Amino acid sequence: MSGLNLAQLQAVHYTEGPCLVLAGAGSGKTRVITHKIARLIETGLAPKRIAAITFTNKAAAEMRERASGLIGRQARDVLVCTFHALGVRMVREDGHALGLKPNFSILDQDDVTSILKDCAGGTTDAATARQWQWTISGWKNQGWDARKALAMAKDDHERSIALIMQRYEERLTAYQSVDFDDLIGLPMRLLKGHPEVREKWQRVLGHVLVDEYQDTNATQYELLKMLVGERARLTAVGDDDQSIYGWRGATLDNLKKLPVDFPQLKVIKLEQNYRSTSAILRAANHVIGPNPKLFPKTLFSELGEGEPVRVQDCDNEEHEAERAVARILSLRAAANPPPAWKSFAILYRANHQAKPFEKALRKANIPYKVSGGTSFFDRAEIRDLCAWFRLWINNDDDPAFLRAVANPKRGIGHTTLGALGSFATQHRTSMFGALFNAMLPAAVPKRALDGLAEFGRAINDLEYRARHTHGAQDARAFLADWLKDIAYEQHLYDAEDSEKVAAARWSNVLEFCDWMAQRAGGQIEDAAGTTTHKETKSLLEVAQTIALLSTISEREQEQDMVVLSTLHASKGLEWPHVILAGVTEGMLPFKLDDDEGRQQKIADDVAARLQEERRLMYVGITRAQASLAVSWTKKRKRGREMVACQPSRFIAEMKLDAGTAREDPREKLRQLRAEFAARAQAAAPAVRA
Ligand code: ATP
Ligand code: MG
Repeated sequence: MSGLNLAQLQAVHYTEGPCLVLAGAGSGKTRVITHKIARLIETGLAPKRIAAITFTNKAAAEMRERASGLIGRQARDVLVCTFHALGVRMVREDGHALGLKPNFSILDQDDVTSILKDCAGGTTDAATARQWQWTISGWKNQGWDARKALAMAKDDHERSIALIMQRYEERLTAYQSVDFDDLIGLPMRLLKGHPEVREKWQRVLGHVLVDEYQDTNATQYELLKMLVGERARLTAVGDDDQSIYGWRGATLDNLKKLPVDFPQLKVIKLEQNYRSTSAILRAANHVIGPNPKLFPKTLFSELGEGEPVRVQDCDNEEHEAERAVARILSLRAAANPPPAWKSFAILYRANHQAKPFEKALRKANIPYKVSGGTSFFDRAEIRDLCAWFRLWINNDDDPAFLRAVANPKRGIGHTTLGALGSFATQHRTSMFGALFNAMLPAAVPKRALDGLAEFGRAINDLEYRARHTHGAQDARAFLADWLKDIAYEQHLYDAEDSEKVAAARWSNVLEFCDWMAQRAGGQIEDAAGTTTHKETKSLLEVAQTIALLSTISEREQEQDMVVLSTLHASKGLEWPHVILAGVTEGMLPFKLDDDEGRQQKIADDVAARLQEERRLMYVGITRAQASLAVSWTKKRKRGREMVACQPSRFIAEMKLDAGTAREDPREKLRQLRAEFAARAQAAAPAVRA
């Protein structure tokens, strides 16, 4: 238990009841979780009875790695995952109580929009369907189903969306599919409505730990409460100043409710920041200052004053990117040995802001990677292959059927598929099920029938083989065979005009298969030639969790590259040198009056939105360890126009020119402690008397 301060130790050693660690950025909250896993095992709790819940899969991978560093092999059995992955596990084990078979499919955002479009008759545009999706997702995150939504609808518009939601629910049941929100909602329904399932999970889990607690939503909290039950062996760590997912339904109410729902809650505060220099921390404290406080907090650093925070005024976005590159190069030139590329991060508000930086970095031959951007899994070729996997796993997954049967093309046209669809509905079966129905020949033309039957046989055969393929080596061979069988490479070259694009897509496919194979485990050899042994999984098991993954490779982190990331995706991470870009009024804070789409769900209240933007800035600043530069542009592209811009109000709020010594929070803390000690001493004789 070395490397922990007193307050951290207290949090780690308190295992008898609910515990909340509430503290600012970089104060070692995540470290508390990893050490507490080790501590719980030390006290005799079996690793598989510990669940540690993280915000992303990447964070889970990192935590697993840290935990293995502390406790070795045992860390493998600890359930370190996101709420959604925990949900998959629960629904897979106990979903039968809700009428779901264990091989259900998980739909991604795109599947959901296309099903919604279809529910409305197919003439809707994508933007409207996405709006519906937001609304429905919001309802689901409050724990509502279509019936409830219909009852609560405020106007005709909401009523019509609730009716679409009703059809959407029916489809999902027919397809034996769930969406992301269901991965929280269904486990909650399971625990709520099925006491035997609830008791089982409360018995199974001896302690539940939650990182980034401030960004949980209402259903996640309900789920958590039911998972831990009366015994409440729960450790949550979080920071109200870093709550940045309000637009996606996260709510600080969960922090407020904890002491009410668990009166025996032990609240521990951490006050020392181990990440950033005083100069950086001071800027962060100043920025977050104007936000209302849920709990009073102090944060100090003993890492010294450090380099002052720089503000870079730039003419436009290209200039901003050039200056960022220049800064990276000069920081490298100034130190001996130069800091690695991976010690630099460029952070910004929105994905599209990465472009100019990518260009400038490429021009300077600097290796970089974009994280939190369009995921590998959103690419058409990867989604094609995933549709096949989904169909192996769940034959009732009609959206996957439609995609797989058409990619690569096998001469089965829309009319045939339309006829097959109506036949399936009539006979209350899935499209795949319909292929094997003795009455089908009467419903579709003979020519199409052969193609369909062949497709059905191929899927069955592949499914059987995927179930019996274990380990990386066999998985790799199987995947290669399969791609050759369906002539997927040829399909890509036929579909693309440009050979270069087709080649790039094919190389994505190969990378993807390699990654799938790696996950099947067994003997794995890495680039350096080191062999490790992992538990093997069948290819079918690997395929089922794909929908949850958004990062192609966990070893990516090891690569020596400059990181480009959105602020949202940077949560929980740290880099020695950070460049915070686009800190321009209208970008950060984001234009508060007329932003579209995703902002809808955030309260109409502009003040609340400004507060969330301010927390985003706070998250950005506090990612930096040794140096921080904040840049803004005098002009910014909006559509085709260039518009004149002002520096973000947050730059002034950092109060970079204010005196340093006077405002050292450490000094203030010492004063407070001295006063407290004096008061305690003054009170002591009275107590004795
Ligand atoms: P965030 O709010 O950004 O999620 P956090 O509170 O989770 O931050 P950690 O990531 O756990 O903070 O810790 C920040 C850094 O400080 C890490 O590099 C960690 O290793 C280090 N650290 C944490 N506690 C200590 C300690 N007691 N002694 C030395 N270093 C520490
Ligand atoms: Mg953390």
